[in-house]
Amino acid sequence: MDIDLDTGKLIVFIGGLTVFLMIEALSAARESSVSKVGRLVRHGFMALVNTSLVRLLTFVPMLAWLVYVEQQGWGIARWLGLSGPLEFFLSVLILDGFDYLWHRANHRVTFLWRFHKAHHSDTEIDVSTALRFHPGELILSMFAKAIWVLIWGPSAFAWFLFEALVSFCAQAHHSNCDLPDTIERWMSAVIVTPRFHATHHAVRRDLGDANFSTIFSFWDPMFRTLAPRLSKASMTTVAIGLPDARGRAQSLSQWLVEPMDNANLDLSQPAKLG
Ligand SMILES: [Zn+2]
Repeated sequence: MDIDLDTGKLIVFIGGLTVFLMIEALSAARESSVSKVGRLVRHGFMALVNTSLVRLLTFVPMLAWLVYVEQQGWGIARWLGLSGPLEFFLSVLILDGFDYLWHRANHRVTFLWRFHKAHHSDTEIDVSTALRFHPGELILSMFAKAIWVLIWGPSAFAWFLFEALVSFCAQAHHSNCDLPDTIERWMSAVIVTPRFHATHHAVRRDLGDANFSTIFSFWDPMFRTLAPRLSKASMTTVAIGLPDARGRAQSLSQWLVEPMDNANLDLSQPAKLG
């Protein structure tokens, strides 16, 4: 059962990557000054390192933890007696709420930000940015996820559904595309759209220090971290990345040492634009 769910997650990942690469090739919202193939190779390599490490260090313990929590009957979902589609939906919703808080903590707690800024140092965003994370962030996030599992007690199916949706939604909202204005306005009220998330990657701190949601977008207005909406025109011109040292952000060695680099550490400082 678990192996089937895991294979399903992989199919969603490869399917999403293919679909959004095609959409970007047909109608990119922003013009890129760097090689698309180069970005794919670099970020693909990061994903390979990350996936191997996560598989090796956290995959089996996490599965064992899901089963153990279930055997003990722990978690709010079990105490409420939730099951079937209602449990799947509520588990995805609640876990996405935890993910909002975790992402926000990654921007507010300096130790966590040291790792998360490896993702934000990308000076462009496209579907390959969804592959760009520091391995330290992924390992730390597994500890956070273990706590969510303990508190909520999702079924194994709901957990894999949540993980697959996070992966697919991350590909969708990092992708370099834009929706017509009206559709964008309606969709971004419920789910995170590319324009909603491009705002989170903006160099301008009044925009970038906001919009932390992953699947559902309403967490940001609920917790008062919603940035002003980008116009269709500014979606194509918004400067992406972090204020300092935007030029050296693309190297693999910089990706690995990013947590030790004190650049961009204090984001309470005003952005140095240009
Ligand atoms: Zn972030």
